[in-house]
Amino acid sequence: MNQQWRLARPPPAGWPTDGDFEWIQASAPEPGPGQCLTETLYLSLDPYQWGRRRNGAEQPGSVCHGRTVSRVLQSRHPDYQPGDYLFNTNGWQRFGLTGDGVTDFGYMHPRRLDIEAAPLSSALGVMGMLGLTAYAGMLVQSGPRPGETVVVSAASGGVGQIAGQLAKLAGARVVGIAGDPKKVAFCTQTLGFDACVSHLDPAFPEALGAACPDGVDVYFENVGGKVFEAVLPHLNVKARITLCGMIAQYGDTGGQSPRDVWLAAGSAVFSAQKVQVQPLFVGDYVASHQAEFLALMGDYLRQQKIVYLEDFRAGLEVAPTAFAEMLRGGNFGKTLVVVQDP
Ligand code: NDP
Repeated sequence: MNQQWRLARPPPAGWPTDGDFEWIQASAPEPGPGQCLTETLYLSLDPYQWGRRRNGAEQPGSVCHGRTVSRVLQSRHPDYQPGDYLFNTNGWQRFGLTGDGVTDFGYMHPRRLDIEAAPLSSALGVMGMLGLTAYAGMLVQSGPRPGETVVVSAASGGVGQIAGQLAKLAGARVVGIAGDPKKVAFCTQTLGFDACVSHLDPAFPEALGAACPDGVDVYFENVGGKVFEAVLPHLNVKARITLCGMIAQYGDTGGQSPRDVWLAAGSAVFSAQKVQVQPLFVGDYVASHQAEFLALMGDYLRQQKIVYLEDFRAGLEVAPTAFAEMLRGGNFGKTLVVVQDP
């Protein structure tokens, strides 16, 4: 039997609640010609999934979308054998199909994973889309130079922890912004950032200014809202911003797109300071940069130049709760559901 979380209704404004999801038990699918049946091992919980649900890309009744690491159980696909491990997009369910006629969302193509090369779960984080997001935004778009000050928000999270470390490796001075004190300590003590400030601190704007005495040359934006407003006064002339995400604004922006709200909040400073804003969509970098990214990140991990933290949650049943917690800062590292322990 399959187990699934499906979207129960078009989500109302705000943050996810239990009523948004429906637990379904159904027969496992049969692979057709050119397809294989896979069992989900790890499910990635990502902020963009809430955007898809809110903007109608995911319809009520459909299995909730999500990237996964899976094991092939049966195969009628020429490239995959039973026992192979794949990166694929089974979504929030125990069993799914991969191959002909199964959508891979245009850029999340299935690929076989080498279990000797890297831990399986890393294909959903540091060696997957999150790592590529950090790489594309930090190195390809913003290109920090030695001595420049780089600020990263949601700094201990899946994307932020990698983006900040890549900036450190490029020789920049890195300042993180995180919430809980344990996340702040993780950024300086484990990730090696030069400073980290908490947006929960009542004196956060002043603390950020003190941590950036030479202003901000590169801002890797993951949050938006009040965090963004605190960074704005410190942007140097010709600062570069990678607009990766605005998680603080995904719940409700009064019907306006989060990006429009963000741009309106920053427009005066952007034009006064000649700031370069570069929107980021990781899918734009898969064909052009994924191969070089995987080679570089594989080397960094083997040489222990990059470390990463994962937040594992046990059992498919907890996916909605873990998802809602992650969107509000209740995660510590890249959030993954262990659907079946490999
Ligand atoms: P994270 O693992 O960073 O988890 C989200 C974090 O956001 C929380 O842990 C919390 O950290 C922080 N956060 C949430 N709400 C607030 C708030 N109101 N104020 C301040 N911080 C908040 O998630 P990801 O690494 O998966 O994603 C990070 C960002 O990257 C998101 O905005 C996401 O949409 C974006 N993204 C964009 C992609 C692209 O192609 N452009 C691809 C992938 C991700 P804390 O407790 O420290 O505040």
